[in-house]
Amino acid sequence: MIISMKLGATKEQIDHVCKRIQDFGYHVHSIEGEERVVIAAVGVGDAVSHCLDSLRAYEAVESAVRISAPYKFVSRQYKSDPSQFQLGGTTIGAGEFVVMAGPCSVETEDQIMSTAEAVAKAGAQILRGGAFKPRTSPYDFQGLEVEGLRLLRKAADATGLAVITEVMTVTNVDVVAEYADVLQIGARNVQNFPLLKEVGRVNRPVMIKRGLSSTIKELLLSAEYVVTHGNPNVILCERGIRTFETATRNTFDIAAVPVLKELTHLPVILDPAHAAGKRSLIPALARACVAVGADGMMVEVHPDPECAWSDGQQSLTFGEFARLMKDIQPYLELWKQQRPAPVAATTS
Ligand code: PEP
Ligand code: MN
Repeated sequence: MIISMKLGATKEQIDHVCKRIQDFGYHVHSIEGEERVVIAAVGVGDAVSHCLDSLRAYEAVESAVRISAPYKFVSRQYKSDPSQFQLGGTTIGAGEFVVMAGPCSVETEDQIMSTAEAVAKAGAQILRGGAFKPRTSPYDFQGLEVEGLRLLRKAADATGLAVITEVMTVTNVDVVAEYADVLQIGARNVQNFPLLKEVGRVNRPVMIKRGLSSTIKELLLSAEYVVTHGNPNVILCERGIRTFETATRNTFDIAAVPVLKELTHLPVILDPAHAAGKRSLIPALARACVAVGADGMMVEVHPDPECAWSDGQQSLTFGEFARLMKDIQPYLELWKQQRPAPVAATTS
């Protein structure tokens, strides 16, 4: 339920309404706004209509509405303006298409340093790279772990980029948050609820990748988990889902962008690399990412894809990435014209 108080409602009136909400068995989740106070209440109960009727009868209550979506705080019903927040030096959800680029895995200092320089020069804002790697086979390379985080941070600091990297376990959340600007929850962990709760606790934006077989509703419920555990700065990432089609690594669900834009105020990123699984397909899909109105995209870039320790077949060379960034410029001009007017940004 969302209860909007009238302008100038007193603290006593607000407290009274909160008490009434609690008497009905609901929990007051947040009280926001200075001039006009908005109270968000959640809980399980069968007295919603009765509670709403009662609250509407209060002199100081402007409106009281039920949020029907199972994911409440990430829904458009809760917040109609798109969310914007800082990722390092850039604002996601605002007037800039955010590009996250870098290798699948951090391998060596030379590899990550040269990649950071190349992607920064071509116009990316965020350096990606896995230090803790989920792999299809347990015999594959699992990442450099903390040494990988240290190298990522060093490369990003040297080039003015922000860092996004995956966190796979509850016990690693703090160390990843120490080095990274954005925490990535991988497709295989989208419903790892203890991990989602833990990243809800940290003061870093979180990007959640859609699972290989997640529905959009499940993705939004995972985002809701992070938000209700204290972290409102969540980004959603469509990275392809598993279908009967085998011509691409996964099936890129481009339609997820307009669908999510209708359902949620959270920013949406697209990852054409993990969706396509093949380098030659990335430029066309990158143009689609911009055209469909995503807030940004993530691509894999490697100095020598043939020798990459993971995902070389879907990684772009430096030259290919620079061409792609040039190639999407005319689309970015159109993208800018279609952006909603900026709203006041909230920082993480
Ligand atoms: C990645 O971004 O490196 C990754 C492992 O992606 P996903 O979780 O989407 O498979
Ligand atoms: Mn990868």
